[in-house]
Amino acid sequence: MTWPDLPPDDRFGIDNLPYGVFSPPGGAPRVGVRVGDRVLDLAAVLDDPVFARPALNPFMAQGRGRWTQVRAHVTELLTDRRHQAAVTSHLHPLPDVRLHLPFEVADYVDFYASEHHATNLGRLFRPGSEPLTPNWKHLPIGYHGRAGTVVVSGTHITRPRGQRKSSDAPAPVFGPTQRLDIEAEVGFVIGTGSALGEPVSTADFHDRVFGVCLVNDWSARDVQAWEYVPLGPFLAKSFATSISPWITPLDALDAAWTTPPARVPEPLPYLADVGKQGLDLSLKVHLNGAVISKPPFASMYWTGAQMLAHMTINGAASRTGDLYASGTVSGPNAGECGSLIELTQGGAHPLALPGGGVRTFLEDGDEITLSGTAPGNGGGRIGLGEVTGRIRPALT
Ligand code: MN
Repeated sequence: MTWPDLPPDDRFGIDNLPYGVFSPPGGAPRVGVRVGDRVLDLAAVLDDPVFARPALNPFMAQGRGRWTQVRAHVTELLTDRRHQAAVTSHLHPLPDVRLHLPFEVADYVDFYASEHHATNLGRLFRPGSEPLTPNWKHLPIGYHGRAGTVVVSGTHITRPRGQRKSSDAPAPVFGPTQRLDIEAEVGFVIGTGSALGEPVSTADFHDRVFGVCLVNDWSARDVQAWEYVPLGPFLAKSFATSISPWITPLDALDAAWTTPPARVPEPLPYLADVGKQGLDLSLKVHLNGAVISKPPFASMYWTGAQMLAHMTINGAASRTGDLYASGTVSGPNAGECGSLIELTQGGAHPLALPGGGVRTFLEDGDEITLSGTAPGNGGGRIGLGEVTGRIRPALT
């Protein structure tokens, strides 16, 4: 029996318990666990200085055994009524606290792991040629993003400026992007890193990865189309990437593992699946409060374990706090795409908004929220922490 008396269908019930960093009124940032619409101050109830820190990194570096131990301890504190009196004063209502970036982002890599997204974008960016490049089904394609501009949910996003060039124009022009887009993604947070020269196998995913979060990889499509040849995305992506303030630990996702789609041709041995390594997460994209898409993460071609194995197969080290994101999550059906460029077919078919008006790409003042759920260990569904951002006008 959970003594915080949560409704049985609460998406942040006792089988969820995501981690974040918060400041209580007048207090310094510290690690907390969300339960319902409250935050439990872990430094206070567990009397461990590793939680009296402004980032999850020191705790994540302690490793899988410690993560499981702490989760069990917190669960006991929140279910055994003998602890109620001691713990209640360390539960803060969410509206009273400030939420921070939950971990110090070490490196940031973004993949391109949805076959449907890659196919849709290939058609838009390279009309007339094969939508998937010849390497796509042999390796999870990715690029190194900018760790220093990963921001927490709620941070305003200033419309970036840059070069763009339409195909019929003789020269590029400079100015605010006219095709500001989103990418609904799932991020994996590395808890324990790996040494230089030591690849991480797909079987080691569970020991290395602490948890997942929703990611919005804001994208300036006109800047991207002009700059990406031949080295990939650069300034079209690096101005901001938003993540949820809550990291859902893998321990909360035991019921969410699923078999990924069939892969043909079979990937090379170092990318072989070990058991069910797909994740059945259901995402939603909200534009100014209206749901405009429902991307299914279970449809992703490459899994988080394969991305990690590929990212380190050359001997590259990984570190506590590394974030790698899946790439835009797009399903096979209409209404399942994780970006506006797909939902509007390159801007050719504007979306009609429920409150009136239409959108191709984002306008100043627009607010995007990504939300998600997963099957919970208790048989219901758990919520992924939301990530939201509002567009501010470009600098003048
Ligand atoms: Mn992306």
